[in-house]
Amino acid sequence: MSEIRRDPVSNRWIVIAPELFEEMILSAKDRFEPNTNLCPFCPGNEAATPQEILAFGPADRLPNSPGWSVRVFPSRTPALRPEGAEDRQGKGIFDFMNALGAHEVVVNGPDHHGHLATLSREQITLILKACRDRINDLFGDRRLHYVMIFIDHGKSAGQKLGHSCSQIVAVPKVPPSIEEELRGAKQYYDLKERCVFCDILMQEVKMGIGFVCENDHFVAFCPFASRFPYEVWLLPKEHQMAFGTQSDAQLQALSGILQAVAIKLDAVLGEPDYHMVLHTAPNLAAKPGYWQTVPEDYHWHIEFIPRVFESATYEWGAGYYVNSVAPERAALALRTPH
Ligand SMILES: [Zn+2]
Ligand SMILES: [Zn+2]
Ligand SMILES: [Zn+2]
Repeated sequence: MSEIRRDPVSNRWIVIAPELFEEMILSAKDRFEPNTNLCPFCPGNEAATPQEILAFGPADRLPNSPGWSVRVFPSRTPALRPEGAEDRQGKGIFDFMNALGAHEVVVNGPDHHGHLATLSREQITLILKACRDRINDLFGDRRLHYVMIFIDHGKSAGQKLGHSCSQIVAVPKVPPSIEEELRGAKQYYDLKERCVFCDILMQEVKMGIGFVCENDHFVAFCPFASRFPYEVWLLPKEHQMAFGTQSDAQLQALSGILQAVAIKLDAVLGEPDYHMVLHTAPNLAAKPGYWQTVPEDYHWHIEFIPRVFESATYEWGAGYYVNSVAPERAALALRTPH
């Protein structure tokens, strides 16, 4: 059984999930199987996945049958499970708790080969709607403090099957990288009484150095201190702390800029693998009185991390990144029409 343990030095929470190892060995041979008959995400193979939680399709479609355009179900081998209480315990100096949470898979469409750069805008909007609806549903559970949403695209990014999916992971603790952002945003707000992300956005649009593209609701840019070559962030122009409050119209605009960025990365970098990660506010209902300033100082966004030129980026062992492509150069290449 999985368990979440706290490292007493860094205070990081680590999910120990021994059963995943066995599953990884078993499924390794099926990965990137070119024969779509064997792909559990393809239409017709619904019985190979757990029962669906949510699906978009015609009204007369039966659950767990073909005809869907987006389908969500729990991961077959979740490291975290929604049953039970947190059940925090201590053993000597070590703290641990039940691996409480949720791990869900959103199949990004019935087409085995479709991905952000090639799917229709309507399809991408449906994926975003499914993610929004799931995040709002999961945040109804006060035991869940944070929901991570990400797409791993391509083999080197960790995509297990050749079929595009988004992953939703709900956890009982706010992840350290989000805590870092929340703290940094609060410090900036305490000093200047302005949202740091709104200020970055204004500067990127005005000065245009990292600017990549924009539409009515969103801006894409290469951040000033990019950790990775061709790292791109997408921010809503309007100050909003959470992805879950997006209207259908905003999601439609988001699908447009997501696709534009994916196409630009493909054109400039030759269809790279990438990680796409959503950073949104924590579940404020989970810890009343905590993170009180988040509505004013945090601003949700999406980070694209292409996996290119393995030798062009490295980490000096402790989160100290060396990036050999200046973001202003990456931005210039990306905003040049192709
Ligand atoms: Zn497939
Ligand atoms: Zn803002
Ligand atoms: Zn972020």
